[in-house]
Amino acid sequence: MSVLSRWKAKLAIREDLEKTAKTEHTKAQHDYEVAQAQHLPTVEALKNARDAAGNKLRKRRAQVAEAEKVVKRHSKVSAPVADKTKISPNQSSRGGVRPRLIVLHITVSHNRPGSGDVDAILNFFAQSGTQASSHIINDAEGNDARCVPDEAKAWTQAAYNPQSLSIEQVEYADKPRARWLSENKAGLENTAHWVAHWSVKYGIPLRQSTGSGVCQHRDLGAAGGGHVDCGNGYPIDWVISRAKELAAGMKA
Ligand SMILES: [Zn+2]
Repeated sequence: MSVLSRWKAKLAIREDLEKTAKTEHTKAQHDYEVAQAQHLPTVEALKNARDAAGNKLRKRRAQVAEAEKVVKRHSKVSAPVADKTKISPNQSSRGGVRPRLIVLHITVSHNRPGSGDVDAILNFFAQSGTQASSHIINDAEGNDARCVPDEAKAWTQAAYNPQSLSIEQVEYADKPRARWLSENKAGLENTAHWVAHWSVKYGIPLRQSTGSGVCQHRDLGAAGGGHVDCGNGYPIDWVISRAKELAAGMKA
């Protein structure tokens, strides 16, 4: 085979290879253009939307901060004062432990019109044989009583007593959320007021926690005595969010 015919054969092969490469490039360019057409404006639009949302968020945050300042300046919530006080002998020293936990209970007794329901629990805790107590007792109408001073340890949640402040809310058991929020609104408001007060007084965070914060007795499990109060329907989220509003007014 001559040099010429060898190279003609090579040329034909190389032309085919070039044709294939061109086809591949054309397809890649097309794919790239399609992708560019479809995606780039989308990314750009998302970026613009993100920037616009960011600007809006900054504006909204500034508006919230301004409103918070005004609300703080104008609200003044005083510390709660219990309707009555009957100090229980069922208490002891916290042993130097600073309160950091607010534990909410129900008495598993019936709400009655008036403050007789609170008095019944207060008198029960006043007997040394009861061997139990709470810092505060309240009922669905918001009547309340002081049973143990904040500085002392009330006896109501076993191993958690040293670090806890406690409220016994007069209520029977397993009340659905909707009924708590309608029938016990004044009582929950009273509970939130005490929670806010203790939060400000001791720097207890207003969040659900069994370490440092607010919880139901049942959240403490066996170490807390293994009780089931306040129950599934208890609106602790409402209490905490209301306590936050009241605490903001107290700090002002
Ligand atoms: Zn309890």
